[in-house]
Amino acid sequence: MITKVNARHVLGYRNGRHVLLDDACVVYRNATIEFVGRDYQGAFDAELDLGESLITPGLIDLDALTDIDHLLLDSWADPELGKGYQWSEDYFRSRRADVFTAGERQQIREYALIQLVLHGITTYVPIASEVHSEWAETFDELAGMAETSSRLGLRGYLGPAYRAGVNVVLQCGERSVLFDDGQGAAGFADAVAFLDHVRGLADPLVEGVLLPCRIETLGLELLKATAQLSAERNVLVRLHSLQGLLERRLIMDEHGVTPLELIDQVGLLNGRLLIPHATYTDRNPAVHGEDRGDLARLADSGASIVHCPLTSLRYGSTLDSFAAYKAAGINIALGTDSFPPDLIRGIDAGVQLAKILAGDTGAGDVAGYFDAATLGGARALRRPDLGRLEPGAQADMVAFSLDDVRDGVRDDPFRTLLLNGTARQAVLSVVAGRTIMRDGEIDGVDLGFWRRRGQELFDKMRSAYSLRDASRRTSGELFPPVYAREER
Ligand SMILES: [Zn+2]
Repeated sequence: MITKVNARHVLGYRNGRHVLLDDACVVYRNATIEFVGRDYQGAFDAELDLGESLITPGLIDLDALTDIDHLLLDSWADPELGKGYQWSEDYFRSRRADVFTAGERQQIREYALIQLVLHGITTYVPIASEVHSEWAETFDELAGMAETSSRLGLRGYLGPAYRAGVNVVLQCGERSVLFDDGQGAAGFADAVAFLDHVRGLADPLVEGVLLPCRIETLGLELLKATAQLSAERNVLVRLHSLQGLLERRLIMDEHGVTPLELIDQVGLLNGRLLIPHATYTDRNPAVHGEDRGDLARLADSGASIVHCPLTSLRYGSTLDSFAAYKAAGINIALGTDSFPPDLIRGIDAGVQLAKILAGDTGAGDVAGYFDAATLGGARALRRPDLGRLEPGAQADMVAFSLDDVRDGVRDDPFRTLLLNGTARQAVLSVVAGRTIMRDGEIDGVDLGFWRRRGQELFDKMRSAYSLRDASRRTSGELFPPVYAREER
């Protein structure tokens, strides 16, 4: 089956870089691209004309929220209130429980994956909050999610999240991490079993990876075991780290080295590692305010960072800076990390922050950011057949409509999309040659149902925070509204 898709703008790939083609087409035979350009003379079985649209490679999100939403609740608190979102010590010791049933967890995954599709993401590595779980993620949960992901047609790099410790608020009110090594070992066993499971599936859209939780929750043994397994099986590891001062303090207290030094010592600092956020390196003003070698260390290792500009911004931090990390030679991929999974808004936020950090409007590196969302992600995943539209590459692409009067005018379509638009303008999403979304609709998916169900699940999640809060505050106290609500 040969399909030809035409659009006003196509981001093609020539001689190792993206290039913009006007009035062009992408032609693919089954899962593989055969032609990108103008004046296609060959045969085709189906043709689609997208008019005033921009076709780009499918977006790659390496820290993709596969949860309902939590930033909506937890990105407003001061440090004292923020403690209310953690587990209390007594919850850790004697009252741990799942907030959701296994069936509800599957629904949450489906809701989130649908959101990724609707926002033009074609390849993802999932992230979900473990706060609502009895411990972390299980084999069964991820096996179910792999089925859903494959049914929807996304390209997923999956594994159950595991940890040996949990961030808690101690009885004395201090934040710390408490450990349960048995849980760590069980989670790791599930991660190993899941790699075997994925191999058995032999599904080209599902790949097994290791997704341990935050570095401070792993402990030395689990970090080393992860490094060893990654090397033995040649699988990727994503490790949340270098993402805050609390993490830095906990690691330095426990291990006597910085988080980056610890990653290196345990054998994880190599080309198979993805580091989400990576905002707290030497350069961060709260660390040293100048690079003392962290950037070169990251670059030399071949590890990739997963920059999540919108989430970082909303939690009050930023990568300092995109330009410095890029100039150091670090591979930068992008992630959304929280709702909405909108990489267009994320890129806009990142680009504008880069201007502020540099004190220079010339630092607005749109191409650098868009490369990160495509080529950077592909490189991190070791997939030179993703993130680019050229013959031989996978037919993974997305089209953003630019034909609404509210989109404004166009000089360069990327600037119009970033400045005036959002990923909601995705009108076509194709993965491995299969159309998984067209005009905001997904085959077999009732979006009205998911809107209602998502709200119900969110309400359940919100009300459970009080059970875990050391001070047992009510939901209303934990999540103060913008304005006081008048009683009915
Ligand atoms: Zn993250």
